[in-house]
Amino acid sequence: MRVATGIGYDRHRLVAGRPLVIGGVRIESDLGLDGHSDADVLAHAVTDAILGACALGDIGEHFPDTDPRYAGVDSIALLRAAGQLAARAGFALTHVDATVLLETPKLAPVREAMRANLAAALELELAQVSVKATRGEGMGFVGQREGAAALAVATVQSS
Ligand code: MG
Repeated sequence: MRVATGIGYDRHRLVAGRPLVIGGVRIESDLGLDGHSDADVLAHAVTDAILGACALGDIGEHFPDTDPRYAGVDSIALLRAAGQLAARAGFALTHVDATVLLETPKLAPVREAMRANLAAALELELAQVSVKATRGEGMGFVGQREGAAALAVATVQSS
């Protein structure tokens, strides 16, 4: 059995007039994330971590932001597709850990809902998915509310 890990990172700009969707959860906020899809920064980072663990390229290659099919798309659907790509390539996903970087609002109230959405999309148990959140403490693009970011690590097994 071989074990491999992959890393994912994503960031999107925070703007007025867009919904804030993170980990498939719509969160009440004055600013939302801008992007071609729903700009779900957490779903995108986890998608890239899974593709990375399987050496299957990256999210931009599989779901290009120039493709009208992905305009406004629910990024949880892209995450599910990445999980299926991994399975077809012979990899079993065993764990995902992620950190969301957002200044405000606090993500603690929706953390479990985000975990549940990721786990469901990837057909994992809740115990195999971890979501954490941290703030920018007023510093940099996260702290200044210019944008949000997410980091993720995925672990896979193959025989
Ligand atoms: Mg993205």
